[in-house]
Amino acid sequence: MRINTHYQDLEDSYLFSTIAKKVAQQSAEHPEQKIIRLGIGDVTLPLCPAVTDALHAAVDEMGNKETFHGYGPEQGYDFLREGIRGYYVQKGVVLEAGEVFISDGAKSDLGNILDLFDRDNTVLVPDPVYPVYVDTNVMAGRKILYCDATEQNGFLPPPPQEVEADIIYLCSPNNPTGAAYNREQLGAWVAYARAVGAVILYDAAYEAFIQDESLPRSIYEIEGAKQCAIEFCSLSKTAGFTGLRCGYTVVPLALCGGRLNAMWLRRQTTKFNGVPYIVQRAAAAVFTPEGLRQIEENLGYYRENARIMAQALREMGVWFTGGESSPYIFMKCPGGMDSWQYFDLLLKQAGVVGTPGEGFGKNGAGFFRLTAFGEREATKEAMARIRALHEKL
Ligand SMILES: *Cc1c(COP(=O)(O)O)cnc(C)c1O
Repeated sequence: MRINTHYQDLEDSYLFSTIAKKVAQQSAEHPEQKIIRLGIGDVTLPLCPAVTDALHAAVDEMGNKETFHGYGPEQGYDFLREGIRGYYVQKGVVLEAGEVFISDGAKSDLGNILDLFDRDNTVLVPDPVYPVYVDTNVMAGRKILYCDATEQNGFLPPPPQEVEADIIYLCSPNNPTGAAYNREQLGAWVAYARAVGAVILYDAAYEAFIQDESLPRSIYEIEGAKQCAIEFCSLSKTAGFTGLRCGYTVVPLALCGGRLNAMWLRRQTTKFNGVPYIVQRAAAAVFTPEGLRQIEENLGYYRENARIMAQALREMGVWFTGGESSPYIFMKCPGGMDSWQYFDLLLKQAGVVGTPGEGFGKNGAGFFRLTAFGEREATKEAMARIRALHEKL
């Protein structure tokens, strides 16, 4: 037996464990200080009533001989796939019936999709980045190139001039930077991918946070994208499904003459047995008019938090990306501080927790991520404390 030695190439991530350790130490030393957490990358508002009603009803169906459901289609029930197609129509995108695949979340699909690609492909990922894109390719031993997301390009890197990549990861609106590509910028990536024969793996987990009509919520809003892109989406951040688990992936029939769609279907029917019936009923409720109205309320709450945070930083003269079409804000640390210096200062002096940008890649150094998933009053209080701290610097 020989093990996959590529696992030894993975870098240990101490980001969140180091944060937890530092926060625990601070609370032990200063039990009187109320610590506010703006580092959370998880939703905090509960599921909306349309979703819980659908869950309850589906549970009852499962307990009744006439309406019980056993194994379902691996790629998802039609009632949900059709609901998602209807959702895309609202974005101006028409998908065909067999192009939508239901899964237990975007993270699984982003990792699993690599089954379809040869090890001998070059991968291009932006830096800073959601760590899943890098680690899943390291595990397979694939060569990874980075394109620099920087303050100069607003953390929205354009396609590279010299490099030819085969598999390209894009995430917009982005985690951790909150930056979102406009149509023209995304169009440049689509043109690049088509010119070099690459596939774009497009992570649209935060699409629902976009309100600005000029920004694309799906890569398929860009002409020619169905010939070069697979889109991953999730109900996690959109509808609070981080604990319930449901996502979907679009593999267009126009991509590689339908070959990747057929391969993904084969892969899923072989290695996956579908998402629970009750979860798919809950997910379908999100795409009803009532469900969409209700999730908008929750999204609006997070958006307002983000607006309050962005407004405060603007008034303080701090450079940042995100906050408008995203629950994330990526701010420049004041006074040339590095990410961890600022983390320590903010924790000790203000009792506010965020995430050091360098934990997401080298270009995150000197930056800091704040999230809008907190409670309103705590978010306001945190920004007041940050403001007071910056005034003292
Ligand atoms: C949260 C998140 C997801 C969603 O993952 P799930 O597995 O669906 O919960 C996907 N991509 C990014 C960048 C995320 O931050």
